[in-house]
Amino acid sequence: MGNEGAKGPGGEATTGIVFDLKRYAIHDGPGIRTTAFLKGCPLDCLWCHNPEGKDPPPVLSFVEARCLSCGACAAACPEGAIDFSPGGLPKTDREVCTACGACVKVCPTGAREIIGRRYTPRELIEELLRDRPFFEASGGGVTFSGGEPLAQAEFLRQCLILARRQGLHTALDTSGYAQKDLVLEMGRLSDLVLYDLKDMDEGRHLKNTGVPLAPILKNLLALAEAGIPLWIRIPVIPGINDGPETIRAYVNFLSRLPRKPPVFLLPYHAIGKEKYRRLGLPYRLDGLKPPSRARMEELAQVFSKAGLEVHIGG
Ligand code: SF4
Ligand code: SF4
Repeated sequence: MGNEGAKGPGGEATTGIVFDLKRYAIHDGPGIRTTAFLKGCPLDCLWCHNPEGKDPPPVLSFVEARCLSCGACAAACPEGAIDFSPGGLPKTDREVCTACGACVKVCPTGAREIIGRRYTPRELIEELLRDRPFFEASGGGVTFSGGEPLAQAEFLRQCLILARRQGLHTALDTSGYAQKDLVLEMGRLSDLVLYDLKDMDEGRHLKNTGVPLAPILKNLLALAEAGIPLWIRIPVIPGINDGPETIRAYVNFLSRLPRKPPVFLLPYHAIGKEKYRRLGLPYRLDGLKPPSRARMEELAQVFSKAGLEVHIGG
């Protein structure tokens, strides 16, 4: 691959911050895929399982169970952000921490880690191209997720253009919360859009995600009317968005979309809870149980009866 895409339209270097690369992903679009998780998200969903993807800059993660209480991190920190007393655990003031990584380098056990790495579009696509044989054998490709990938619009734009030039199938996993023109442009640059629809009640959507629902529905309609291939992904959060009225609202809206896109019901899980601990953040849905398989099947039937193709998981 040449060095096209390494510069923005004005000749400046464009870079983006990626907080994870998930290889052999089988739920982020067709076939075997590699998913790049772009950092930064304007939403603040109660049930978010990627809290490390929320803030745009890199962030420090700390695994208490791996800490030997040696104090090396506190001695190395140039900001004086770490409070340490012998025999205790280091306490990091996250308001002061600049995620410089000095403590990570000296920690003997890998208890500390900086999450988020800067790439140029070309570097990221070269990394993704390593998995091309798996994509070709399975009908897979690359998925850009987050965080909210639209929050790094120029980086995403260049990645999608470069991926397309390399003949890679591309999927964009988005909340759809952005300007309509941007959503449409990125949708047209992608082969598939995975559209996350988190609730159908305006007040509850605002309360539980921090952003309004109306523009998200408008953007979804615009993508569908533009003929852009869509998969709809609905996180099923027990007691929040799985009541009969809400499910009816989902079905009514989705069954009126052109070409009725397939629906994927994603059961809530608390797998991300440990990540909150590592980032020093509170987990806000403590005690909430995932929906049972029977409950998921019951919900799936409602979509199916309305003539929608529905899947559980994915
Ligand atoms: S990442 Fe840098 S600033 Fe933050 S605690 Fe470690 S050494 Fe200090
Ligand atoms: S350097 Fe690592 S092992 Fe030592 S106190 Fe800091 S976090 Fe714990």
